[in-house]
Amino acid sequence: MADKSFLSWPFFEARHRELAEQLNTWCAQHLTGHGDDLDAECRKLVKQLGSAGFLKLSVADAKHRPDVRSLAIARETLAYHSALADFAFAMQGLGSGAISLFGTVEQKREWLPKVASGEAIAAFAMTEPDCGSDAANIASSAMRDGNEWVIVGEKTYISNGGIADFYLTFARTGEGEGARGLSAFIVPANAAGLSVAERIEVVAPHPLARLTYDQVRIPADAIIGEPGEGFRIGMETLNLFRVTVGAAALGFSRRALDEALNFARNRRHGSGTLVDNAVTQEKLADMALANDASALLIYRAAWQQDVGSADNRRAAAMAKLYATEAAQQVIDAAVQMHGGAGVTKGVKVESLYRDIRALRIYEGASEVQRQIIARDLLKGKRP
Ligand SMILES: Cc1cc2nc3c(=O)[nH]c(=O)nc-3n(C[C@H](O)[C@H](O)[C@H](O)COP(=O)(O)OP(=O)(O)OC[C@H]3O[C@@H](n4cnc5c(N)ncnc54)[C@H](O)[C@@H]3O)c2cc1C
Repeated sequence: MADKSFLSWPFFEARHRELAEQLNTWCAQHLTGHGDDLDAECRKLVKQLGSAGFLKLSVADAKHRPDVRSLAIARETLAYHSALADFAFAMQGLGSGAISLFGTVEQKREWLPKVASGEAIAAFAMTEPDCGSDAANIASSAMRDGNEWVIVGEKTYISNGGIADFYLTFARTGEGEGARGLSAFIVPANAAGLSVAERIEVVAPHPLARLTYDQVRIPADAIIGEPGEGFRIGMETLNLFRVTVGAAALGFSRRALDEALNFARNRRHGSGTLVDNAVTQEKLADMALANDASALLIYRAAWQQDVGSADNRRAAAMAKLYATEAAQQVIDAAVQMHGGAGVTKGVKVESLYRDIRALRIYEGASEVQRQIIARDLLKGKRP
């Protein structure tokens, strides 16, 4: 059982503690193993999470944007139990985040209830073959033609690619150079000309694809915000969910520590067990320290976002950077402590070792987070 003592920290309210308890119980009952058909598993997980009411957390309601502390608790808890369940949950928020934050009343009414119930699967389509971290240089274009936009281009590494019902797509509309000339669009998956060019397999498998947009026509009102606002919309969406990537890393990392403790307590060494060894104890202490430090950074940043602190970008970047990097080290230490068992398929720490890797790359690689922090620092801002 993961350490839940952090829930008594002052960042939280009673509703957060209730959520952690409720979701943990739900996970223990429902996440008992996944089948081999990834697409079917993800569809099932989205439906299950929707029916249980948890996906409501990932969208705005009539008055509030998503509560980041709730999102972070949900991701930490889900990731502790299952990387795929965390993925299914997270993408509903990221894929619909721009609608929650910047959509019109009609766009929200059309899409958010379906995302929250699990009826519609969401995807976030920003990355292109020639442009990942450098999102200001997106090359896909959207041209206005009467009452429609016509999108041409290619997107890659798109999570939920192949199973999504809509792709929140960023394309160049040309109001200005670079970041000033992008817009965001809701593109239904069944729009003519939108196709999955390739499914991509990664170390921790989930639905992932390269998409082509061949003269994809969507209605004029499928744009989110004004033409030219796409970059800001994309960055604010990523900023809102960035902390939760750290929370997922923390879920993996707490699980790794629990697995390591359990293994070391039971693994016989000489006249005792592995935990009797001082080197093992030192490692366990470092792992616990890293997890607590991650939790402090994550829930500080989440709280800052929820209370509307103006300068929350730096805290969010610190949380994502530290938690993902630290989790990689904690999980590696857990694998090492398991010896040969640690690299054996079917052993939990082996899959955690693969599950954590991409989190240091997507939604802003660690180097990009360091740039955000340094720029903020050089402007003389405080977190
Ligand atoms: C599993 C997975 C799921 C993904 N899901 C999505 C999705 O749903 N939607 C989506 O749009 N994209 C998605 N992506 C894409 C992801 O966001 C990009 O891979 C990421 O932004 C990095 O872009 P890139 O791969 O083009 O690498 P590049 O931008 O080419 O960067 C390569 C490396 O260079 C370094 N680097 C980058 N920028 C800097 C810098 N400023 N200073 C110093 N070093 C730097 C980093 O180490 C980086 O890893 C996903 C990727 C993965 C692996």
